[in-house]
Amino acid sequence: MKVLLVYPEFPDTFWSFKHALPFQGKRSAFPPLGLLTVSAMLPKHWQKRLVDLNVQRLKDSDLDWADVVFFSGMIVQGPSLKEQLARATRRGKRTVVGGPITSARDAAISQADHIVEGEAEEIIGQLAGDLERGVAKPYYVHAQLPDVTRVPLPDLSLVPLRRYSSMSVQFSRGCPFTCEFCDIIEIYGRRPRTKTPDQVCAELDQLRRLGWRGSVFMVDDNFIGNKKSVKALLPRLIQWMRDHKFPFSLYTEASLNLAEDEELLGMLREAHFTRVFLGIETPVAESLKETTKFQNLRKDLLESVKLIQAYGLEVMGGFIVGFDNDPPDVFDRQIEFIRQAAIPLSMVGLLSALPNTQLWKRLKAEGRLLKASLGNNTLADLNFIPRMDTQELLDGYRRILQTIYNPREYFQRASAFLAQLGRGSRSPVVFSDVLALGRSLWRQGLLSDYRQEYWKFLVQSVVRHRRHFSKAVTLAIMGHHFFQLTAATDSK
Ligand code: SF4
Repeated sequence: MKVLLVYPEFPDTFWSFKHALPFQGKRSAFPPLGLLTVSAMLPKHWQKRLVDLNVQRLKDSDLDWADVVFFSGMIVQGPSLKEQLARATRRGKRTVVGGPITSARDAAISQADHIVEGEAEEIIGQLAGDLERGVAKPYYVHAQLPDVTRVPLPDLSLVPLRRYSSMSVQFSRGCPFTCEFCDIIEIYGRRPRTKTPDQVCAELDQLRRLGWRGSVFMVDDNFIGNKKSVKALLPRLIQWMRDHKFPFSLYTEASLNLAEDEELLGMLREAHFTRVFLGIETPVAESLKETTKFQNLRKDLLESVKLIQAYGLEVMGGFIVGFDNDPPDVFDRQIEFIRQAAIPLSMVGLLSALPNTQLWKRLKAEGRLLKASLGNNTLADLNFIPRMDTQELLDGYRRILQTIYNPREYFQRASAFLAQLGRGSRSPVVFSDVLALGRSLWRQGLLSDYRQEYWKFLVQSVVRHRRHFSKAVTLAIMGHHFFQLTAATDSK
């Protein structure tokens, strides 16, 4: 059997980093870990090819080669997935769709011959056998959440690693918290399941063996969801990094209760974690209560961020507007919080009701749902009737972006952040970083209309924060991505 694995294209959003990647000579942020893991579970005698549309084109000859085409993706990849699914169907190919996108139950995606809902580990063997015998069913739904200690190493031979800016490793699935808007807990459950330290080290070994150096993203939605397991992993991880002379810099996503555990923060620093994404969401306590994000109410938000930064971890923040309890001044309060916390990379989104979440169920019961979510939390993604006047909400959202991604404001915030960043670990400098600096000096320092702010920031970084200079360059380049996207949002 010849299987073609297809990963759809991401649209141009804050998370795509499409305007930053060319500086490093990269095409996408990370490889499709889910499909690479699926590939490792398929029968050994199957022939496999993978096309990631974020780094290469899907040719007709690839489709013609295949007996079956597997697609996987997230809701935000829906438009690309639907287009390529229709194309494969027109060419008479048998198609399979899996991944979080299936939770949306989209009519166009239901046109696939076979749908795999939920995590693939318990299903893939049966699906492969059924496909070989020509008796595959239209739907495969996992009966129980798989034991991730049996997940194999991802099949990295299928992707050109050099086209990605970072590699991905997954330690856990699931999160113990109850945020109303979150689909992670609906898909992966509230009891975090973790891999063993041996599995994680084996994945790092594989990356190192393949010559990878630089960033590795621990892709867990909440890396510290199971603190006991993460504290068992970290000493092994620290030892592995020491033994191999720290070939990677790590980053991840975590819940804000990270700030309640300085032992854990110290271990993350020692393991060379350099950045952590935190779902801060809002400084408005009533809105946090509404969305049952109680873990963000236990400690002062600003103090929490500052403590994490003091451990040398760059905080990347997720923020949301559009909660029912958001007061009229929520936009100013978000801007002020982001400014005071000095979070350069602040991902501000509009609340959106993802399928099957508690939010989606509540809004449906209240008759306030308007359409399916696009999964990108931007202007076009408001899919319910908000309590606040819709135009006021959209204007306020635009104003936050225009303010925080005004180049002067952004570089001031990035400078303030570098000033308060503790002595963390240095990231290894790789060739693409040198390339990125050259391109940044040229494109941002000479050609951009914000070059004055750029030079001021860079010079300040050399003079005052020399130790963090490579982070300063990365932040300048990331800033470019956000400036471009904000300009595009302005014109909508
Ligand atoms: S902490 Fe994050 S992953 Fe966990 S439920 Fe809340 S939003 Fe979801």
